[in-house]
Parts: sequence; C-alpha cells; structure tokens
Amino acid sequence: MIDPGDLIPWRIARRWRCVRCGWCCCNYDIPVTFEDEERLKKFGDVLWRGKIGVYLKKIDGKCIFYNDGECLIYEDRPTACRRYPFYIRRQGDDLAKFGDVYIYLDKNCRGIGKGKRIEDVLNELLNTANQKSMEKSFIS
Ligand code: SF4
Ligand code: SF4
Repeated sequence: MIDPGDLIPWRIARRWRCVRCGWCCCNYDIPVTFEDEERLKKFGDVLWRGKIGVYLKKIDGKCIFYNDGECLIYEDRPTACRRYPFYIRRQGDDLAKFGDVYIYLDKNCRGIGKGKRIEDVLNELLNTANQKSMEKSFIS
C-alpha cells in the first residue's frame, strides 16, 4: 500500500512514461477488484485474501507475474497496474486539480519526469476511467 506522503501533485511531476523498470511490480502488494478477479481466474491460484482485500501472490517479494522485466499477463493485468502511478481523488490541493478531480503520482515511480506531458497522459487516462467498469475503482 502506498504511503500517502509519497504522493505528489501532477503539476510537480510534469511528465511521465513507464520505463518498464519493474519497481512497482516488486515493491507493492497489488490489489485486485472483483472484475480483475474474474479475469484472472484463468491463471489459477494466483491470489491471496487479506483482511481488507484480495491481492496478487508474490514470489521472492515480486509479483507472481513479473519475469525479468516483463509482465506475463500484460493484457490482463489488474486495474491497479493499469492506473499506477496515478491516484485520482475527489479532493486535494490546487497543484493537483485537473478538471473536476485531483491527481497525484507516486514519487517512487522511475518514469516521472520522462516521456509525454502529464496533461496528455491524464486525458487518455480519464477517458479510460470514465468507462463504467473502471470508474468505481479508479476515483476515490
Ligand atoms: S515504477 Fe513506474 S516506470 Fe517503473 S515499471 Fe512501474 S510504472 Fe513503469
Ligand atoms: S500483474 Fe504485471 S504489471 Fe501488475 S504487478 Fe504483476 S507483473 Fe507488474
């Protein structure tokens, strides 16, 4: 689970691109939604149930699907992986405001400061988040 102190507003991050370093796959417990769980059933016994949620199993501290820099289930990866390192809130500070929501990034992501302007990334991301199936889990 991310430490709230690690979240920075999108205006500070400025640019972002996934550089496929695998840091997020090796350092977090990855939560899965009910919809993710249904989609992941075909991979067998890959989940564990905690007190407050369901997560992907890990091997040697890394996600069970992480293999030498690659995600073995990229097309089926959980919602949390698709939206990382972005966290969208209904409330926040001015530097995080983006339209009707407030957007933060995990400062630990190695792709911050690289790639596309965050504004462009965010427009793509919010279009996806607005799809009914994503909305509930994406905005908190
Ligand atoms: S930490 Fe950031 S750059 Fe590295 S794999 Fe995760 S999303 Fe991509
Ligand atoms: S499912 Fe794929 S993207 Fe998500 S943590 Fe595991 S290896 Fe990384």
